[in-house]
Amino acid sequence: MLRLGVDLGGTKIEVAVLDDQGATLWRQRLPTPQGDYAGTIDAMATLIARAEDDLGRMDAIGIGTPGTVSPRTGLMKNANSVVLNDRPLKGDLEQRLGRRVAMANDANCLALSEARDGAAAGAKSVFGVILGTGVGGGLVIDGMLHAGHNAIAGEWGHNPLPWPEEGEFPGPTCWCGMKGCIERWLAGTGLARDFHVVTRREGTGHDVAVWAGEGDSDAQAALDRYTHRLARALAHLINIVDPEVIVLGGGMSNVASLYEDVPRLWDRFVFSDPISTRLVAPQHGDSSGVRGAAMLPKAE
Ligand SMILES: [Zn+2]
Repeated sequence: MLRLGVDLGGTKIEVAVLDDQGATLWRQRLPTPQGDYAGTIDAMATLIARAEDDLGRMDAIGIGTPGTVSPRTGLMKNANSVVLNDRPLKGDLEQRLGRRVAMANDANCLALSEARDGAAAGAKSVFGVILGTGVGGGLVIDGMLHAGHNAIAGEWGHNPLPWPEEGEFPGPTCWCGMKGCIERWLAGTGLARDFHVVTRREGTGHDVAVWAGEGDSDAQAALDRYTHRLARALAHLINIVDPEVIVLGGGMSNVASLYEDVPRLWDRFVFSDPISTRLVAPQHGDSSGVRGAAMLPKAE
């Protein structure tokens, strides 16, 4: 059985084909046409056609996207690539391809991939967190996605930062219309913004993490604030979902210190005696999204 996954990201569209054992047989990517809905559909269809030219017809196709498909309207909602919102992305792609596809949020795909055969394999409950351009989450229980009644389960990035400290309230305005969303603090751009506000220095979230590793005390202080905010935000999540494993994805998941420092800090905020929840790095790295997308059919 050939499973094709599409990872529709803000900057690139990646397609991979997996065999029954989860081995990657084929992989290609294209840049995401910026602000261009029709071009985005074209690019996905082009990559799928190339895969089928090389390998023959796919047995299952799954798409991981920012945001989610509204069960009520069939239209996209909550995508930080806002050109997708209010569009019938799933329906339009199915019409273009002449067949059904499965579609889910990119964080759900990360959680599914890592729960099935990655860093959280064997765990009963897995929460996947994307710390990238945006902040999202997805929940997998017993190997199956829990998408939720409104298809928003895990949308933790648009809750407010919990236990705010001085200077954190009400917090920066989010594209969703609210203030102080976790996404505004914990996306890579959130670290960069916080670093800039305090130091007036410019750098990406990745830069700040690298500079911290090189002994830059301003950057280390910003990373420490980021780490404490992540610990509070995950403690809040543990108090509600209590997953066995939390797996990180997205650019900030490459910051190795988080896996040691965050669990040390979250103890104070979790309503429990010492907790055994594991915080782990993704085993499949940047490929988790596209692998999870390929696993979506029959996992929703
Ligand atoms: Zn928000």
